[in-house]
Amino acid sequence: MKYVHLLHNSTIMKNKVLFVMAIAAGTAFSLVNCGDNHTTGSGNLSAEVDSFLVSYNNKYKELSAITNEAQWKLLTHMEEGDTVSSKNAENAQKLYADFTGSVENIEKAKAFLAKKDSLSPIQVEQLEHIMYFAGANPMTDSVTVKDKIAAETDATKKLYEFKYMLGGKEVTKNDIDKVLRDENDVNKRLAAWNTAKSVGDSLHNPLANLRMLRNRVVQGLNYSDYFTYQVADYGMNADEMMTLLRQINDEIYPLYRELHTWARYELARKYGVSEVPDYLPAHWLPNQWGQDWSDIVSVEGFDLDKIIEEKKYDSMWVVQQAERYYVSMGFAPLPKTFYDKSDLFPLPVTAKYKKNNHASAWHMDLDNDVRSLMSVQPNARWYETTHHELGHIYYYMQYSNPNVPYILREGANRAYHEALGTMFGMAAMQKPFLEGLGLVDASLKIDTTQQLLKEALRYIVALNWQAGTMSEFEYELYTKNLPESEFNKRWWEIVKREQGIVAPMERDETHCDAATKTHIIDDPAQYYDYALSSVLMFQFHDYISKNILKQEPRFTNYYGNKEIGNFIGGMMAVGGVGDWRALLKEKTGQEMTAKPMLDYFSPLMSWLKKQNEGRKYTLPEQRAH
Ligand SMILES: [Zn+2]
Repeated sequence: MKYVHLLHNSTIMKNKVLFVMAIAAGTAFSLVNCGDNHTTGSGNLSAEVDSFLVSYNNKYKELSAITNEAQWKLLTHMEEGDTVSSKNAENAQKLYADFTGSVENIEKAKAFLAKKDSLSPIQVEQLEHIMYFAGANPMTDSVTVKDKIAAETDATKKLYEFKYMLGGKEVTKNDIDKVLRDENDVNKRLAAWNTAKSVGDSLHNPLANLRMLRNRVVQGLNYSDYFTYQVADYGMNADEMMTLLRQINDEIYPLYRELHTWARYELARKYGVSEVPDYLPAHWLPNQWGQDWSDIVSVEGFDLDKIIEEKKYDSMWVVQQAERYYVSMGFAPLPKTFYDKSDLFPLPVTAKYKKNNHASAWHMDLDNDVRSLMSVQPNARWYETTHHELGHIYYYMQYSNPNVPYILREGANRAYHEALGTMFGMAAMQKPFLEGLGLVDASLKIDTTQQLLKEALRYIVALNWQAGTMSEFEYELYTKNLPESEFNKRWWEIVKREQGIVAPMERDETHCDAATKTHIIDDPAQYYDYALSSVLMFQFHDYISKNILKQEPRFTNYYGNKEIGNFIGGMMAVGGVGDWRALLKEKTGQEMTAKPMLDYFSPLMSWLKKQNEGRKYTLPEQRAH
């Protein structure tokens, strides 16, 4: 298991594994007298299931450790001309894939699941996980799997090796992003936006092909389509997930509508356009998909970089300070092996090899071997990132206990891990927290409204895009089998309805603008993970602020509070055992809701309403579905 932290983007590599069969066996024993209408009594059935689960879990742990070790070597020690490491990583990955996708494992899990009424919840949960793992490459349909992998490789190549041309010159994606971020000339913006979208044209057919192959691969495992398969990891079906996502979008809609109105007027002013457009032209926004508008404003805050420099703190201080933070809340100190085996700092310039520079947290053996790969430097960005990564590490450590089988050693759902890491990182950046550490002076004044505006332009706008446009489109693509002749038409209908954004000109089916978003091609049908993660983060943070700390959610200090460690630690310790909704309810007393997030931004709502007084609102008062 590995969590890669890429700013607001994280890729989750699915890997996990077990041990405690005692518990499963014990629970099952009590079921001996129920539903005994098969040739094998359920006592025997239960024992049979347990024996299968023990061997699966043990093999899974073993293969995960081998795969992680090979991957670790590959990313921490990159030497020119070295093909051994990548070959090893590939071989390990293949062993892992052959096992999780094996016909034998699939057939057994399927047969046992057919009798799930006679099994204990933890047995069923593990069998369902085994089916989910198998969905990545089931050998029951090896021809389609092979075609799918080839199609994915081909489409990914088209996407990442595309040559972007602007004004007759080849440009990088960074060049394009810079224009969209900084340029005030609308025509130059339009040219850059068109360049950004040009990669989609060659991806229309590949996307149609990928949709067909992805659906077919999981249909053999009794999932109706690929979106449904991905959602199954949450114990939900596609419609239940869409209902939840629409509820979240309904909740944030009043604030989104204010931001949308504010942004139209603000950008028209900035670009010197006298007529304010009814909908936001896509090329006006500082991000090509309109998923983050935060660059519209800049905020003078405190300069944590400068403070860390003045205090002469070094990189090791950053890591140990993050550890002290968790320990202050009652978590255990990091194991010695964490420091021995992790790769925490930039390589010296004289090093003969390179390393990957993205921050990531690793659960090597699904047990006590936890590591982090970072390139920590004494600055604000690494300070927050380190606090975030250790959140993942403590999550791993908490659920590595005998109550959690290896294959359930993961977050309560895919979104929990990121939610907790992000929450601990964010909390460590709040002013009272930094004040407590002596890093910021209490008398320092910050323009809190502008700061809140910037945060809303990032988080509320992103949430609308994640739960809205991206999820609605992928749902229609996979579950509703959206006709190939309507990919682009439908994409823009959804973008307008959900985000209030329109294309600068007619975009016909020679384009495929959805496919310009990398996740549509290479990380499909799980974009809602981001939405659920930020909603959960605000729910947990809200609970901690109000019920444990009795502090304002925007001004908290977690440091030294053992009750927080107790609250979160308990939630972490169950891993993936049980239903995540029940866990949320038990811990916070709430169902999933974006209300705490709205509450956090409430001072901004009144400010925006004042700014927007007398302005024309073009999004309907009630959100259109
Ligand atoms: Zn993370």
